[in-house]
Amino acid sequence: DHSNRRDHQSLIAADARHVLHPWADLSALGQAGSLVISEAGGVRVKDADGRSYLDAIGGMWCMTLGYGREELAEAMAEQARQMAYYTPFGDITSEPATRLAEMLAELAPGDINRVHFTTGGSTAVESAIRTAHYFFAAQGRPEKFHVLSRINAYHGGTYLTQSLSGKAADRTHFHYEADFVHHLSSPGYDPDISEISAEERLRQLLDEMEAEIARIGAENIACFIAEPILASGGVLTPPEGYQKATLDLCRKHDILYISDEVVTGFGRLGHFFASEVRFGLAPDMIITAKGLTSGYQPLGAVLISDRISDAISAAAPKDKPVFSNGFTYSGHPVACATAIANIEIMQREDICGHVREVGPYFIDRLRALTDKSIVYTVRGDHLMACVECWTGEEAGPTARNMALAQRVDQYCQEAGLLVRPYENLCILSPPLVITREDIDRIVAILGAALDRAT
Ligand code: PLP
Repeated sequence: DHSNRRDHQSLIAADARHVLHPWADLSALGQAGSLVISEAGGVRVKDADGRSYLDAIGGMWCMTLGYGREELAEAMAEQARQMAYYTPFGDITSEPATRLAEMLAELAPGDINRVHFTTGGSTAVESAIRTAHYFFAAQGRPEKFHVLSRINAYHGGTYLTQSLSGKAADRTHFHYEADFVHHLSSPGYDPDISEISAEERLRQLLDEMEAEIARIGAENIACFIAEPILASGGVLTPPEGYQKATLDLCRKHDILYISDEVVTGFGRLGHFFASEVRFGLAPDMIITAKGLTSGYQPLGAVLISDRISDAISAAAPKDKPVFSNGFTYSGHPVACATAIANIEIMQREDICGHVREVGPYFIDRLRALTDKSIVYTVRGDHLMACVECWTGEEAGPTARNMALAQRVDQYCQEAGLLVRPYENLCILSPPLVITREDIDRIVAILGAALDRAT
């Protein structure tokens, strides 16, 4: 029923007048420049004028199974009819949350068998840090609360998670938690543009981490939080062996390892959890969100090892044995029912297998764009990738390079393709169901936009 549809221009005007977007361009607040998306199906979205775009952003890394999946809509509707909500606090729960926790424990690596549901990725990261603090406090070591993170990391939009994040542009105007959050260097390694070998870079990163642990004192550090591949910070892949080597360092110093798989999990790298299969990790905690529901509902979770949950429980003070963490909508029944249906579809259609098949093709095709003169480098892994633009002068996020990427983004949009501009990068994270034909279309449109911007 399109009868109550508003036209695109009036929606754009209302948006300009009333909405403050996440990561809005404040200098353009009130100016009508938005795109109002009204409909979607498969890997395509339509704006309120009915113009169609191939969605190579995948919503926001989260749209994995594609838009308009009847089975997911049905799961949501059915749960809403049966029981839309009940509190998850204390010892009450809902059937979908219980069933989903069981499924996640089955999918997760190692002795990860306990699930703390949240409302999204940021709240899950906050909860994981708090869990790490509980763990050491429970052992009578409350001073072991410092956190190691990395430059260019992205762990969320709340105050603590932004403190953990290390994207330079997001670090102005705030009073971050500098007294217990410490940033190591960005671990991204791109062999095409690096002047040193991967082995040398790995050695530098590990030496730095070891030195930072010594400076702060291992006895003061609770955890290290890391995306296996840094996503929003610019699709930064560490040198081979980095993830496992940093885990070993953490083990050596009794520092918990939190793997933030909000982007890399649920199929984007071809596995439900890339930590174990791709990087040889047995993390103490894994963060998941986004693809957990294929973006159909907001939901996040901290997946916790038995070692941690057992220790927290065994050492809980008898007078106040409460895990004081959680949210009204933690593990919302409708969101959990959606996640269950999502996992069932992913298994039935072998979505991870599909990603392992088309992922390398996607990266190969994109890498052919390195021939273009305004492309500095193309990097990625399976269905997460980025194209880095430059004017041929200084590389990196200079004003001119950023303006160039904005133009490429705009030309893509005009030609019916949505990519995500960030600094001087065009980031791509298409839905996991993307076909080879649509990959060819993405590369063709992006290639033409790069030519046009040259
Ligand atoms: N962690 C990572 C790696 C992310 O990429 C994001 C979001 O992009 C988050 C955490 C935060 O998740 P949310 O936006 O659902 O709070």
